[in-house]
Amino acid sequence: MGATPAGIKTRTFPQGGIHPPDLKLSADRAIVPAPVPSQVALLLGQHIGAPAKPVVGPGDKVLVGQMVAEASGFVSSPVHSSVSGTVLRLDDVPDVSGYRRPAIIVKVEGDEWMPSIDRSPGLCEEIAASPQEIVEAIKTSGIVGLGGATFPTHVKLSVGPGKNPPEHLLINGVECEPYLTADHRLMIEKAPEIVTGVRLLMAATGVRRAMIGIEVNKMDAVRSLQEAASRYPAIEVVPLQMHYPQGGERQLVKALIGREIPPPPQGLPIDVGAVVINVATVFAVYEAVQKKKPLIERVVTFTGKAFFSGGNFLVRLGTSVADLFSSVGGVPEDIGKIVCGGPMMGRAFADLDIPMTKGMSGLVLFSRAEARQGEITNCIRCGKCVAVCPLGLEPYLVAGLVERGDLERAEKERAVSCCECGCCDYICPANRPLLDYLKIGKARIMEAMKRRAKG
Ligand code: SF4
Ligand code: SF4
Repeated sequence: MGATPAGIKTRTFPQGGIHPPDLKLSADRAIVPAPVPSQVALLLGQHIGAPAKPVVGPGDKVLVGQMVAEASGFVSSPVHSSVSGTVLRLDDVPDVSGYRRPAIIVKVEGDEWMPSIDRSPGLCEEIAASPQEIVEAIKTSGIVGLGGATFPTHVKLSVGPGKNPPEHLLINGVECEPYLTADHRLMIEKAPEIVTGVRLLMAATGVRRAMIGIEVNKMDAVRSLQEAASRYPAIEVVPLQMHYPQGGERQLVKALIGREIPPPPQGLPIDVGAVVINVATVFAVYEAVQKKKPLIERVVTFTGKAFFSGGNFLVRLGTSVADLFSSVGGVPEDIGKIVCGGPMMGRAFADLDIPMTKGMSGLVLFSRAEARQGEITNCIRCGKCVAVCPLGLEPYLVAGLVERGDLERAEKERAVSCCECGCCDYICPANRPLLDYLKIGKARIMEAMKRRAKG
C-alpha cells in the first residue's frame, strides 16, 4: 500500500481487497487531443441496454455532435457523430469482445460542429436549467457511466417505483485500477467544471450533500477539487486509502457513508439512499448541460511499462485502436498483450481495428515477458483468495464447482455476487484461473435464473 500523506485522515472499505502496485506511469502527462482519424465506426451499443436505432443512412452528411442513432427504450442511449463527413454504410464491426456488432461508418470531411454546441473554453458556472431539463439534457446527450459500466446516466437519476429519493450523491474519483490516469488528469485539469457538474447532479436529484472520493495517490487531484469546491460547503472531497477495488460501487458506498448495499444481483446504491456517478461522467454532464455538447469524445489512458510515448488522450469515439497507435508512432515491438481497461478488470483483445467506445477508459500494453502466465498448479488450500474477496465468497470453492459443472451448488455459494474484481486471481500462489471460472459460472447461472423467472 502507498503511504498515506501525514496528517490526512482517510477512509476505506473493511472487507477484503488488495494493494497492487499502482503503476500510474502517465499521471504527469497532460490530456492532449488525439488526431481526428479519416474514418470512424460508431457502435450502436456503447451502453448497457437496448442498442440505439440508426436515424441516418448511406450518403447522409453529418456534423460533429449530430445524433446518428436514437435511444430505443428507457434503458438505452443515443449515439452522436464524433466527426463531420459522409455516412458510408451501416456495417457490423468487431468490438472489444471479438464479436461483430452493428455500427455506423462515417468518412471524415473537415471538422464542422453542430452550431448549437458551445465550444468556447470559458467555464459556465451558472445553472439555469431546471432539474427536469438537466435530466433531459443528460438523456439526449447520450451520457452513460464512463467508469466502464456504461449504464445510461438518466436512468440512474430516475428513482424507480418503490424506492425512496436519494440522500447522498457520491462521486467516484477513485480510479483504483493500476496504470489508469484518465480520471486523475481530468480532476486536475477540469476541477471547476467537475464541481459544476456535481452541482448539476445535486439539483437533478434533489440531494443536499455530495462527496467526491479520491485515493491518496492522487493528492494533487484532491487539492484541485477542494479548491474548486471551496465555495460550496455541501460538496466534500474525501481522501481514501489506496485499496483495490474501492472504485466498485459497493466498496465506495461503504467507504464514504458506511452503508452496506443489499446482496447482488438485486442490491443497488439507491437501496441505501445513494447515487454513485463516476467523475468522468460528471464532466460529461457538465458539457452536456452547460455547453450543449453530446458525448462524442472521452479521455483515454494509453500506457504500459514498455510504451514511453503513452499518455492521456482526448479521443473521438469511433476512432480505431490502430489509428490511435498510428498517432503515437505505431505499435511498439514485443507487445504480448493489449488490455482494454485496467489490468484487473479489463479485457485483452487482439484485433486493432476495434473502435473506441464510451466505456473505454484505457489501453494498457504488456510486453511478451509481462504477459507470460505462471504455471497453473493444484490449489494448496492457503485461503488467500478467501481473505481478499470483498464479497466474502470462497473463490477456490466456487471456481472448483464451476469447473466440475455443479452450477446448482455454485449458485448456492453465491457465484452471482462476484463483482469480477480479480482480487482472488491476483493473489493465488497456484496461478489458478479463478476469475475465468467465476465469470463463466456467473453468466451461466444468471441465464438459468432468467429462464426460471420466465417460467
Ligand atoms: S473476482 Fe469475485 S470471487 Fe474473486 S475476489 Fe473478486 S468478487 Fe471475490
Ligand atoms: S488462493 Fe489459490 S491456492 Fe490458495 S486457496 Fe485460493 S485457489 Fe487455492
